Amino acid sequence: TSPPRPPGLPTSLRYPDVPVGSLLAGAARRYGERVAFRHADEEITFRGLWELACRFANALRQHGVGRGDTVALHLPNCLAFPVAYYGTLLSGATFSPVNPLLPPRPLAGQLTDSGASVVVTHGSVAEALRHSDIELLITVRSGAPGALDFDRFVAEAPATRPAVDLTPGTDLAHLGYTGGTTGRSKGVRLTHRNVVVNALQYTCWSSGSVPALDGTGDVTVDQIGDEHEWPVRLGTGATLTLTPWFHAMGLGGLNMGVLSGTSVTIHERLDPRAYVTDAERLRVTSLSGAPALFAALLRCEDFHTADLSSVRSLSSGAAPMPRVVADALRARFPGVVITEGYGLTEATMGITTGPTWRSGTRKAGTVGVPIFDTEVRIVPSGGDPEWDALPPGTPGEVCARGPQVMGGYHGRDDETAAVLDRGWLRTGDIGVFDDEGYLSIVDRKKDLLLYKGYNVYPRELEELLLAVPGVASAAVVGRPAPDVGELPVAFVVRAPRSGDGSGDSSGGVTAEAVLAAVNEQVPPYKRLREIHFVDAIPVSGAGKVLKRQLRERLG
Ligand code: AMP
Repeated sequence: TSPPRPPGLPTSLRYPDVPVGSLLAGAARRYGERVAFRHADEEITFRGLWELACRFANALRQHGVGRGDTVALHLPNCLAFPVAYYGTLLSGATFSPVNPLLPPRPLAGQLTDSGASVVVTHGSVAEALRHSDIELLITVRSGAPGALDFDRFVAEAPATRPAVDLTPGTDLAHLGYTGGTTGRSKGVRLTHRNVVVNALQYTCWSSGSVPALDGTGDVTVDQIGDEHEWPVRLGTGATLTLTPWFHAMGLGGLNMGVLSGTSVTIHERLDPRAYVTDAERLRVTSLSGAPALFAALLRCEDFHTADLSSVRSLSSGAAPMPRVVADALRARFPGVVITEGYGLTEATMGITTGPTWRSGTRKAGTVGVPIFDTEVRIVPSGGDPEWDALPPGTPGEVCARGPQVMGGYHGRDDETAAVLDRGWLRTGDIGVFDDEGYLSIVDRKKDLLLYKGYNVYPRELEELLLAVPGVASAAVVGRPAPDVGELPVAFVVRAPRSGDGSGDSSGGVTAEAVLAAVNEQVPPYKRLREIHFVDAIPVSGAGKVLKRQLRERLG
């Protein structure tokens, strides 16, 4: 059963066969002098962004970079990010985002795996790249030895769109890294079509507008269904962003902002009072982010007293929204469209969200319904998505099929085959449909922990733990923590001390030593918070660690 949709809202869209750069080309034409992005006291208009992105693309091409090459962006959110992002794609090269907090070893591993020949980095994080052998290093704000300065790199090239022959359905736009279902970091291959489609799916879902292809290949948008009061009005919106653009949800938001002509103000870190001040001052129309953002805002007194009457929509994603947070937001913003979206890097960004039109039924605690042209089925473990779909009310693995689903993992055919089956993506998440077609995410099959919307893979921490001298065995689970999600906690079995045949585990390696050894190898959000020494890790008959038992011990 499908949930009700307003008349005029199609179940399927016609997607223009254009590369990602055309989203910005269309935005520059439609929204020209509107502010596209603002950061501290600097801002850039849609037209200005287009011109700089074209310059960046041409500069890359002058250095011989184009189709078939990969450009890594090792950048925090800043005005240079969208310039380099769209510039890379306009040059014909593939964009590969890198978490600027990655420690040296995984950073080097990712750069090697992606085959990036160009890296754009930021003065604040450039040091991490000191030992990498990259052909071309471009630095935003303050230089690094052997690097080109971003502003000069951009300034010296023409501001016209380079002629690049791309096939949107097959040419690679994004190579984004995720642990996916196994926890081992791997590159998700997304074409220009995947990225354009997902931006259109969500923008049209919240604006009631459907795209048409104009004669020049750019996207144009026709407004429909005004009577349904859509929360997004093209070319009039304003929002703030904290979501990192190196992650799927951040990137989806970046493209949706450009497509809808929304002015986006960058906040580097979560400062709830500054956030509320800007939201009021800039008359923002939408608030979006991970549940941790909303939880923090709810704890800020100003959030409850500020004039936020300009807000028309609130959207949450990346992690489950706690019910208390959803209820408090609803009380703070009666009448505002509040939705929770669900997705994963392997589906570009998203596959479901709640109805956005004002008359729509939003069911708190659910992640809504499949977006346009997207099928979602719930399948028993090991089941066939084509034949074994479970009925409403029965939980199983969420499988999704649609034009935003990746072509596969980069260079990992076996891992691709394990999750992609005749177009169906096995998400590794456990979900359940209700009778009206609304999806709820029950649990994560893959056991990943989410800290402030960031993925923390227990297995990665377990590998590091096992490499610590004096550790015999280990398992990591999450301790739920209000507002931030889950904190990684380790159960550790000490190795018997050498020469001590007793197996006495009272001496040996200390918790401090284990924490230090692991935590110096991971970015701050992955750090272990507690060590519990135990005599044995419980395992099932099949040899699987019984993590639920461990979680129960945490109380
Ligand atoms: P990533 O690929 O990093 O975007 O992580 C995707 C994973 O985040 C999904 O497989 C889910 O486990 C989780 N996730 C994303 N959105 C939600 C949500 N709204 N509710 C619960 N889990 C979510």
